Parts: sequence; C-alpha cells; structure tokens
Amino acid sequence: MIRSTLLAFLIVIAITVVLTVPALAERPELYGLVLIIDPGHGGVDPGASGYFANNGSEVKVVEDEYVYDVALRLRRMAKKYGAIVIMTTRDKKQTVPYAGSQTEVIPPDKNEVFTLSGRKVHSGRNRYLSQRTDIANQALLKYPKHRVVYISIHFDSSGNSELTGVHLIGPNTGKPAIVSLLEEEFRKERRLRTLNGAEYHPFQRNGSVRNLFILKGSNNAVDQRVLIELGNFKNPADVWRIRDYRVRENYAQIVLRALIKLNGVVNLAACQ
Ligand SMILES: [Zn+2]
Repeated sequence: MIRSTLLAFLIVIAITVVLTVPALAERPELYGLVLIIDPGHGGVDPGASGYFANNGSEVKVVEDEYVYDVALRLRRMAKKYGAIVIMTTRDKKQTVPYAGSQTEVIPPDKNEVFTLSGRKVHSGRNRYLSQRTDIANQALLKYPKHRVVYISIHFDSSGNSELTGVHLIGPNTGKPAIVSLLEEEFRKERRLRTLNGAEYHPFQRNGSVRNLFILKGSNNAVDQRVLIELGNFKNPADVWRIRDYRVRENYAQIVLRALIKLNGVVNLAACQ
C-alpha cells in the first residue's frame, strides 16, 4: 500500500517536472518585463547637435534622430527576447532602424509625436514632459505583476570637449539595479565616460548636476528608471562614433544585456 502510494507520488512528481521544465526553459529572457523606452527630444525639438568633417565640409548631426535610432534597435531586440516594449514617442515614417551607411547622416525631421496623445513632440516645459512619465505610470497600473523598466536615451553636449563616453543619471535616492547593471555592461565594453583617460563620474544622481523632471519620483513611479547619455557632441570621437550604425547597434546590445541580467534576478529588492 505504502509502496503504491509512493509510486503514484513519484509519478506525479515526474509528470510535473516533465511538464514544467520545458515551459520554463522556453521562456524568453525578457519574459515578464515591460520596457518603456523614452527617446530624448523629437518633433520640433532636435535636442543637442554636433558637427563632423566630411570631405572638407561640416555636416550637422542632431540628437533626436540618433537616439531614436538607438531606441528602435533596442525595441527590436527587447521584443525578440520577450519584453513588452512601449515607446514614449513615435515617428510613423521611421519604424525601423536607419539602414544608411555610416558615411550618411540620418536626415533630421519633425515627425516625432508623443505616443500618448499623438501631439507633436515639444521640448522642456512640464506639460510636455509629463507625456513621457504618464505613459510609465500607466504601464505600472496596466502591468502590476510585471517588472517595469524606464530607459530614457539621450546624447549630451557638455562644455568640456575632452569628456567622452556614456554616463547614466538615476533617481536622487538609492541606485536601482538597472543602473548598476548598465554601468557594469558599458564598463566591460570600455564605453563609460572618461576624462583624460580616467573614468569620470559615470553615474550621477538626479539633482546633483541637473534636475530632470522625468526622473523625479513624484513624476515617475517606476523604480527601475534611468537616463542614458550616450556621448558628448562636443567630443569629435563621440560624434564620429554615433554616426556608425554598428556602434548604435552595440549600444542597444549593451542595454539589452543589462536588461537580461536584471530579469534574471528573482528578488530585485535584495540587490538594491
Ligand atoms: Zn537630450
């Protein structure tokens, strides 16, 4: 009697293992993650800009088109790995990453609109910026059981032309796991911001240098929130790099790796 009960019990266990293990193994790496990508600027606001020399003439490169391209690359990758992806702005005419070579400049346009309202993207003032955070707060309500991450993508124009590389701005208190993971991944590829060869404040808290509306806890309730400055338009090497689609693809891959690591952490609170 005991034997047959034990046997039945073992069979049940075996069936459970057979049924659940493949299901778990088939889950994509970003299963259960909602990624909000906030491409900086757009519409009538091109953001910062820089120039690079091209056959003796200077060609202008604007921030919004390049960060939007990185956002599209990240969206494509994150979706492939099972994430739900929401963009805060969209450009109906630019739905896939720019296919031109690195010797071409992504042509500037004013097509970007806010995803929430469909209104043209405007700069600065809070009534426009809240379109970028309202969408994040709504995602938290819509997906209460998911892990929500908010990534704003920019390209800086710092006064010091020697500053080169990527830096991250996070909430004014604590350091979300996504910030530490991004720092780790960008450092591995030697992409973090440096000054004269030494790493230079790759992470800053909101409010320490700039006070950004979109990162304030009262405006954006997503814990895992970060703004990435991919480079400095004043630095010729950074401008040269961002033109290259392979570099933009690489930036998106680095962010993807950080997201995959984040999603692999079962208890997020434990690593904060
Ligand atoms: Zn910007």
